[in-house]
Amino acid sequence: MPKFSQRSLDRLATCHPDLAMLFDVVIQHHDCTILEGARSDERQAELFRQGKSKLDGVTKRSKHQPVGGLSYAVDVAPYPIDWKDRERFIHFAGIVLGHAEAVGIAIRWGGDWDGDGVFTESFFDAPHYELM
Ligand SMILES: [Zn+2]
Repeated sequence: MPKFSQRSLDRLATCHPDLAMLFDVVIQHHDCTILEGARSDERQAELFRQGKSKLDGVTKRSKHQPVGGLSYAVDVAPYPIDWKDRERFIHFAGIVLGHAEAVGIAIRWGGDWDGDGVFTESFFDAPHYELM
């Protein structure tokens, strides 16, 4: 059974317990690695400048910027990582979303922001999951 590395566990520990609980379940079914949880304001500003992150329309913040010390977003990739394999990220997202529904956690995936099941997003953030 796949297990998180200590680095992944440390990153997941910066996230809301619902996200930690969800990916504790996901890792039992599909190997994956936690890329990032909580993000500093400085790093968020840099990623936004580079067009690699978007902000919530209302709060003008990323859900990676902690609220009450916790990140409400997490970036996760199927392991081993192949950034060019878009289908693999979509397949993995299906696993994550299925488990989220099963445990009753409402999340949004960065490959389908509007949740319509069509992956034509202009901003396709393949590893991004956030609490709704
Ligand atoms: Zn993200």
